[in-house]
Amino acid sequence: MRKYETIGLIGLGVMGYGMAVNLLKAGYRLAACDVNQERIRMLPDQERVIALENACDVLKYTDTVITMLPNSPHVLSVLEGENGLLAGEVPDSFFLIDMSSISPDVTREIGKKLEGKGYRFVDGPVSGGQSGAMNGTLTIMAGGSKEDVEEAMPLFEAVGKNIIHCGECGAGQVVKVANQLMSAINLISMSEAFTLGTKAGVKPEIIMNVIKGGSGRCWAVEDRMPHILDGDFGPGFTVDLHTKDVKLAVDMARNMNLPLYAANLAAELFKTAQVKGYGKNDNCAVIRLYEELAGVSVRR
Ligand code: NAD
Repeated sequence: MRKYETIGLIGLGVMGYGMAVNLLKAGYRLAACDVNQERIRMLPDQERVIALENACDVLKYTDTVITMLPNSPHVLSVLEGENGLLAGEVPDSFFLIDMSSISPDVTREIGKKLEGKGYRFVDGPVSGGQSGAMNGTLTIMAGGSKEDVEEAMPLFEAVGKNIIHCGECGAGQVVKVANQLMSAINLISMSEAFTLGTKAGVKPEIIMNVIKGGSGRCWAVEDRMPHILDGDFGPGFTVDLHTKDVKLAVDMARNMNLPLYAANLAAELFKTAQVKGYGKNDNCAVIRLYEELAGVSVRR
């Protein structure tokens, strides 16, 4: 087993920042890289943080790198781009752990490429949102060989609680896409049900309290509806990122010639929310499409 001292972390956004805080809490040093240097300056324990602008510099300080970036092109560019990880001198023991939510196909390509060079790679997308990242309680869906996932385990345990080895390289991303598809469809079903009920004259907080104990209960109602009732659409997990995840599901299905009905509807609805200008809002802002159509506000 390798002994970790300094960990490379690329991408300190909503999720990566909380993960950085918990890696520092666990006693590691960080070689932190983000195009937005302010995210690194915000970290506590600055004496144990090396701030870097280019990914290729991270491997000067460590052989182990976690990426937490928005989508597949960002991960590919950080890996293979002009100033990417592979652009400089790469130690033979290079170990990449990608915790972003990206395409399973791209993940498998990365795995194959790195394996071909003798490097190690694990995918470990997460669920649990900003609070899970800050509290170190993320659910982690790991994909890779048993040995590589075991090797990543001390780092996963520093940032997460529920760590599941889903299968070979890319399996973590497959499970993450499935989860994201369900949560998107649940957000839409919640939006329809609450707009309908509110328009029909029942207070939305009453509908929420009933459904929390009924068969319609889900994360969307339990976690997101209280924010909608307060008119709080600040992210959280943005419409833009959730649109990306639903598109990953639709693309996977298309590649397998698999008809998915609700997924395609969800993709169009989330795209509509983007076109309406809600992209940077929390994903629960999809309800605003229905509120506008119905002429009601689902608020306290
Ligand atoms: P974010 O946009 O807040 O953070 C991304 C960070 O990456 C930003 O700080 C950005 O400056 C940095 N970045 C972008 N390109 C870069 C590059 N080339 N080099 C260095 N840094 C770069 O996104 P997030 O919400 O933290 O999400 C990250 C990933 O985790 C996404 O794939 C998302 O789908 C997934 N995720 C997010 C949540 C959530 O609740 N926000 C929950 C689970 C999973």
